[in-house]
Amino acid sequence: MTAANSLAGQIAAAVANGDLACVDLSNVLSPDFPVIALPEEFGQCAPFRMEPVSRYDDNGPAWYWNNISMNEHTGTHFDAPVHWVTGRNLPRNTVDKIEAKDFVAPAVVIDISREAEANADFVVTRAFLEDWEHANGVIPPRHWIALRTDWYKRVGTPQYMNLKEDGAHSPGPDATAMEFLVRERDCVGLAVETVGTDAGQAYRFDPPLPAHSILHGNGRFGLQCLTNLDKLPTFGAVIVAAPMKIRNGSGSPLRVFAMYDAAAG
Ligand code: MN
Repeated sequence: MTAANSLAGQIAAAVANGDLACVDLSNVLSPDFPVIALPEEFGQCAPFRMEPVSRYDDNGPAWYWNNISMNEHTGTHFDAPVHWVTGRNLPRNTVDKIEAKDFVAPAVVIDISREAEANADFVVTRAFLEDWEHANGVIPPRHWIALRTDWYKRVGTPQYMNLKEDGAHSPGPDATAMEFLVRERDCVGLAVETVGTDAGQAYRFDPPLPAHSILHGNGRFGLQCLTNLDKLPTFGAVIVAAPMKIRNGSGSPLRVFAMYDAAAG
């Protein structure tokens, strides 16, 4: 078998000739990209930092490189099950233990951009998802649930974090939605354009932070700070999301992208 007639070779050829459209879902990682802010009594997430080592100068006449540092949850990033206390004792719950095959999975795109525009605190419920399924079709098993909010269009403005005196205001699911997606639709994880898989006000929910708690307690993943979910079809896209292989890591920034059949898009 040659690359030309292997299934893997056909994927490469289809990407090269455009039959498979590739959509970049990562924001640019820079010191300016905002990170989640927790109440001041807790440890804080460090933003991205970059220090030049050399740039074709006395420190390295022929080479350019930088030292970088950041929190595991800075910029467009992956959440592993160990990130939450509910997932602390699960097997293969850290980024280095997740198998490579688990980084490739199909996605269903649920568009709540209009609802989120009208109400930054829009909450996705089980009832909303059941209505969505009646209109669009049943959510298939083992899919990423990609929550399109168009929130990425706010990056670079205060409306991205959308902080008020009582904290951040951004859309997200409640516990009924998460129980439905995990237990009845067997989702791979939740993929969002906002800073967290949970709504900005989800610390007030009952139970608090249901997306983190229910996803990670059941071995599911999170993707946050994505871009371009509005470029994907509702069904038929595949997301490739492979975090860095950090020993015992809880997540990492990553270059995440999606592919879909260009003829269908
Ligand atoms: Mn995270």
